[in-house]
Amino acid sequence: MKNLSWMKTWVLGLLLTLVAGPALANQLERIRISHSPEKTRVVLDMSGKPSFSAFRLTGPDRLVVDLKTTKLKAKLTALEKSSPLIRRIRTSNPQGDGDLRLVLDLTQSASHKTQVLGASPQGYHRLVLDLVPTSRNPSTVAASPGRNVVIGIDAGHGGKDPGSIGPSGTYEKDVVLPIAQKLKAKIDATPGFEAFLVREGDYFVSLDQRSAKARKKKADLLVSIHADAFTSPQPRGASVWVLSLRRANSEMGRWLERDDKLSELRGIGEVISQSSQDDPHLQRTFLDLARENSMMESQALASSMLKQMGQVTRLHKSKPQFASLAVLKSPDFPSLLVETGFISNPHEERQLRDPGHQRKMANALSVAIQNHFRSNPPRDSLLAQRQTHKVQRGESLSVIARRYQVSVPALKQANQLKSDTVRIGQELVIPTL
Ligand SMILES: [Zn+2]
Repeated sequence: MKNLSWMKTWVLGLLLTLVAGPALANQLERIRISHSPEKTRVVLDMSGKPSFSAFRLTGPDRLVVDLKTTKLKAKLTALEKSSPLIRRIRTSNPQGDGDLRLVLDLTQSASHKTQVLGASPQGYHRLVLDLVPTSRNPSTVAASPGRNVVIGIDAGHGGKDPGSIGPSGTYEKDVVLPIAQKLKAKIDATPGFEAFLVREGDYFVSLDQRSAKARKKKADLLVSIHADAFTSPQPRGASVWVLSLRRANSEMGRWLERDDKLSELRGIGEVISQSSQDDPHLQRTFLDLARENSMMESQALASSMLKQMGQVTRLHKSKPQFASLAVLKSPDFPSLLVETGFISNPHEERQLRDPGHQRKMANALSVAIQNHFRSNPPRDSLLAQRQTHKVQRGESLSVIARRYQVSVPALKQANQLKSDTVRIGQELVIPTL
């Protein structure tokens, strides 16, 4: 009997929690955005007084707003393109249960101010976020020319580890290295980019060393090149793998346990030591957001790689695949693993050995990588400093070239123009190299 009454109390307690829970939660009812040349104002209309914290992160620029015990009612998708300063607004893993974390992905650096206004005529409590774009000082830009985007290229296996072996005896390690070398040559030949090979010859490199090397070289991306294999000869086609969330979570735990190791993480170490010192929650937050960013970038890049590779080879999977692979585990920069085809398939084994096919594959990967970083340039990179010019009435290519002190051929090349004609309103990239 005693047990039963304990049970009753427990069930009652549970019911009370269930009933009381939602009633206490604040609600984010709607978000309004207004934009002027001076600033962008984001107003969060809340059902109750907000309890919040807001902080900014760089690389990429973001404003993060943590709202205590808050439910999201507002539609975020409707907000796209309401300010040129905001790329999008999304939710992210909140710090605590029932909390809401909003992430405003910004298109450029901005300072922020917050204020809470009392109930509006409609009864909303308003959290006002003002974002003011911080213009880059042109003289500092001139003083520090942007850096190259660094691509780490990792040819899988090597040395005592041959990888998979094809039906006519081809080793995976021997076909992925020339693809990696050709990709490096392509990247190196592109202004604003540079690449390095994690393995430059036929020797063994451990998986841990591979991502550590990329971190040491301050890579913006690590691409691991492999060839697939199966027990039967039929399966064929390429695929691209990114880190699964579960593995990402366990890796995060490992990084957080190793305080001495945290500072090795790119970018994150800096932010953590500046703003949080010994606060483990903030460290977790920064690491969380950095990892999330790497994963989003990896997935976006994986999709565009598949699109490009699909033009030169068959695809095994047309969507990015998720796996718990050691070489993908870095939380601080995006990493991808490309299976260039099935070496166990006789046709693809032949293809993978063919230098012409290897070149096509390297080309496809290079195009995807370049496109990705051109639309998401790291803030301190040369690509981020790129200027654009909108063609006005009466302007010719030579007029524009003179104005920016570049040559007409350089201007044509940067914009892949085949003729000298430009149309009014056309946006031209001004080459910085
Ligand atoms: Zn492999």
